[in-house]
Amino acid sequence: MISFEEALTKIFEVRLPAINFEKINFITGLQRVLAENILFDMDMPPFDKSAMDGYACRKQDIFTEMEVIELIPAGKFPEKAIIKGQCSKIMTGAPIPTGADCVIMVEHTEELPDHKIKFLKDSTKTNITFKASDAKKGELVISKGTLIKPQHIAVLATTGYPEILVYKKPTIGIFSTGDELVEPHLKPEPSQIRNSNAYQLLSQVKTLGIDAVYYGIVKDQPELLYNMISKSISENDITILTGGVSMGDYDYVPKIFDQLGLHTLFDRIAIQPGRPSTFAINGSGKFCFGLPGNPVSSFLQFELLIKPLIYRFMGHIYEPKNLFLPLGADFERKKSEKLSLIPVKFNDKSEVFPVEYHGSGHINALIGADGVIFIPKGLTNLSKGDLVNVRQI
Ligand code: AMP
Ligand code: MG
Repeated sequence: MISFEEALTKIFEVRLPAINFEKINFITGLQRVLAENILFDMDMPPFDKSAMDGYACRKQDIFTEMEVIELIPAGKFPEKAIIKGQCSKIMTGAPIPTGADCVIMVEHTEELPDHKIKFLKDSTKTNITFKASDAKKGELVISKGTLIKPQHIAVLATTGYPEILVYKKPTIGIFSTGDELVEPHLKPEPSQIRNSNAYQLLSQVKTLGIDAVYYGIVKDQPELLYNMISKSISENDITILTGGVSMGDYDYVPKIFDQLGLHTLFDRIAIQPGRPSTFAINGSGKFCFGLPGNPVSSFLQFELLIKPLIYRFMGHIYEPKNLFLPLGADFERKKSEKLSLIPVKFNDKSEVFPVEYHGSGHINALIGADGVIFIPKGLTNLSKGDLVNVRQI
């Protein structure tokens, strides 16, 4: 059995096949990973621009009446230079006319007859955003390997990259195993339950911008399992299945991984929940993950171990932030031989409280949870106020 940290290291160190890239329209770039650096193709802002609606003038003239000589809307280049006693009415985002060194806010002025205005305050800020004050032409703004979010889309739109180079996404196959499972639209017989894991996993994968292939429920029969695992491996870069990886009489999956010639990276992790997680790879760099059947385990193992690997396949190093927040109440557990993940919610003071949690089969335990906390091996008691390591989910 290996520690969670060792499992994570193996995931980060395992050699992956070379990732291909493709050119796409930047608008469709959300959740993709950049395969090129993005540089500004011009200074930002590209000209000295007004930060306010007001009057562009010379600071030394603001306490005298000034004549308005031009109206400068955003998008128009000024035609007239400002000299002593003059100003131009200017809108936010418009270029500053030559000769002006400040913009007085329209709210701080009074209009007088004969196109004149008067400043009503004691002082003004400059209210000019100077050319290149945000970034210079040629400056690196988004690095290769970045996961694209909406704020990156704004930068891509501004920097002149109508097309971007991104890494290709891995293909993923998902199925559930278990004789007791029926699909959600059916009413289970007394010994059956509905298949929830597969749909949870399909949705978890979807949050990474990937539509996985769903292969259904496979019975606990070695031949059927063998066939489905090999089919999914041949059709996808990553296969994720749940159930059948533990020590029960019908848990055939680890043996079938061996029969298929997969190399098992690990099959037991010292973590609660999620201990019997089997991660394997074949000679062509195809991955197969056998997750425990219990839905909380399956969810968390995906979040903690599979997600970083899928991101690696996409060319991105996934480093979720470690938050350290105070416990809102004392915490106690009886056994401490493993690292434990405890579902928690936060209050509005960012204090952390464990939610009701009966174990990894507790299907609705995560509904009210904002995250999980990591309780290290060997630790049984924590006090209110102790800082705990939180992962948001
Ligand atoms: P297993 O890992 O196959 O031993 O299953 C552990 C527990 O998880 C059992 O109670 C199963 O009935 C349950 N389980 C297995 N697969 C699923 C699934 N796809 N959806 C919901 N529960 C499952
Ligand atoms: Mg089973």
